[in-house]
Amino acid sequence: MSEKELRFNSKVIHGGQKPDKAYGAVMPPIYQTSTYAQTSPGEHMGFEYSRSANPTRTALENALASIENGNFGLAFASGLAAMDAVIKLLEPGDEVISTNDLYGGSYRLFRQVFEKYGIKFHFVGMQEVSEIAALINSNTKLVWVETPTNPMMNIIDLKAVSELAKSNKILMAVDNTFATPYLQQPLDLGADIVMHSATKYLGGHSDVVVGALVVKDAALAEKLYFIQNASGAVCGPMDSFLVLRGIKTLHVRMQRHCENGKRIAEYLLAHPKIEKVYWPGFKNHPNHDVATKQMKAYGGMISFVPKGGNFKDAIAIVEKLKVFTLAESLGGVESLAGHPASMTHASIPKKEREKSGVVDSLIRLSVGIEDARDLISDLEQAIG
Ligand SMILES: *Cc1c(COP(=O)(O)O)cnc(C)c1O
Repeated sequence: MSEKELRFNSKVIHGGQKPDKAYGAVMPPIYQTSTYAQTSPGEHMGFEYSRSANPTRTALENALASIENGNFGLAFASGLAAMDAVIKLLEPGDEVISTNDLYGGSYRLFRQVFEKYGIKFHFVGMQEVSEIAALINSNTKLVWVETPTNPMMNIIDLKAVSELAKSNKILMAVDNTFATPYLQQPLDLGADIVMHSATKYLGGHSDVVVGALVVKDAALAEKLYFIQNASGAVCGPMDSFLVLRGIKTLHVRMQRHCENGKRIAEYLLAHPKIEKVYWPGFKNHPNHDVATKQMKAYGGMISFVPKGGNFKDAIAIVEKLKVFTLAESLGGVESLAGHPASMTHASIPKKEREKSGVVDSLIRLSVGIEDARDLISDLEQAIG
């Protein structure tokens, strides 16, 4: 059976992996080395300097390519370093169309780092593809999509956007951090680049900061590899090992994240003190059909707004939580709660934030894989 034929739950364990050449180690050793002995100048065993390549990182990169149904994986020091490499494909004068309701750090990278190099960013609600089409001109080189969006859990139709991008010869990149390849595989739907903050579900244990890109096209991979090596924001061997280990249980963790997410979303929806719950699994979610079409399940990320709540009420709830930890980040085995307006999205101006629904009382949950009953009791005592 060729590796490409393996099903997803087998790929996470075996995809791109071979026992180590030296002693047959089943897990790749952590090659904690910067350089490699050469027998004669330029004669080596495929590795010469660890910024360019390191065997543990290569093992991770192969696994990433496999689980996203791509041909090439690239691992970076963080999710934002991976995004940084994608934007460096562009030239001054180029334009990018991006999802409006976007991870705060991505927004900051676009606006505060790359705009000053003459790259122009547009932010638009991508649920209607026509809104993207309206912004396309001859300078448009990249569409940057995040779905489900953060923190409003809007769903963007990847196939429809990729058809639009293809017909205009524009690259399409998808931040697949929230969904993971367990739930959706953007390259299969026509995207050119998949990006991950592997810090989140891929690593899965809140113990590492790593980023990733996966592509199918060899010429594009070559350009990204050049930037990865030339700019140097690579991830180290220890971090590569940790993410590789995380990936091996991605499918079982995701299954539980989704089950617990469903139970908690339904609990919140029925709660008399909760005004709104944002979760794509609800039948009346505005993009529920698209979610059902392109995702295997609806994930463990949920946002909600307490009834009549303001900034202080939201803070009071998150401070009372005991099983949920109040913290930045998401996607780990432990449940986390966050307050986007003062945490992840604080770098987005209030007016911009509220346009996409990120009001001061919004609370975001990353539902972990604990016993759902304990998570519900915890929310019960905090909401009151
Ligand atoms: C965390 C996150 C990022 C940034 O990744 P880092 O690993 O923190 O640099 C980008 N996009 C999304 C959706 C994220 O959640």
